[in-house]
Amino acid sequence: MTHKYARTTARWVACTTLTTALTTALAVTGTTAAHADYYDGGMPSRSFNVKAVGINDTWVGFLDTGRSNWNNAGAGASIGRNSSARAEFTAGRYSQSWYGLYDPSGLRPINRVFKIKANARTLERDSGSRMTEWCRSTTTHELGHALSLDDNPNTGRVSLMKHNRNRTTVQKPQPYDVSEVRRIYS
Ligand SMILES: [Zn+2]
Repeated sequence: MTHKYARTTARWVACTTLTTALTTALAVTGTTAAHADYYDGGMPSRSFNVKAVGINDTWVGFLDTGRSNWNNAGAGASIGRNSSARAEFTAGRYSQSWYGLYDPSGLRPINRVFKIKANARTLERDSGSRMTEWCRSTTTHELGHALSLDDNPNTGRVSLMKHNRNRTTVQKPQPYDVSEVRRIYS
């Protein structure tokens, strides 16, 4: 299981033997897994649904903006919101330092799901008067992990997936991010 933290560059990896074997097999068969910006914790398809869990209308709105940002980006994504979806989005006031957390489970080709958490505490603390923008940027960023984008891509271009992005102005997938999703799922 690999957690993606929006704020720090730290990564925690604790693969099961089966997951490791599968990842190795995919790399050997020449998929996109070897590319630096590819994140194997994402969904096997660009079309999937998310369930909003325990959040108010404001936070559902942030989730919906994140979905719209991707669905309208030309990346081929179709992210729905459905109360019976197994993938989850929630928010809370967590003690950890991250703004958002993406936590996948299951095996990518078989039963992959994820849980996204947004941290209202750190977002409120650090965003000044730009809380709405930062929440939208964070939500869209975390959904980028579900679309197999890694943190801090190795590019000089602007990217939603960079931790040092301007969260006020970079709320949506950038051209680089869109091209990467298209490449990964092509
Ligand atoms: Zn991230």
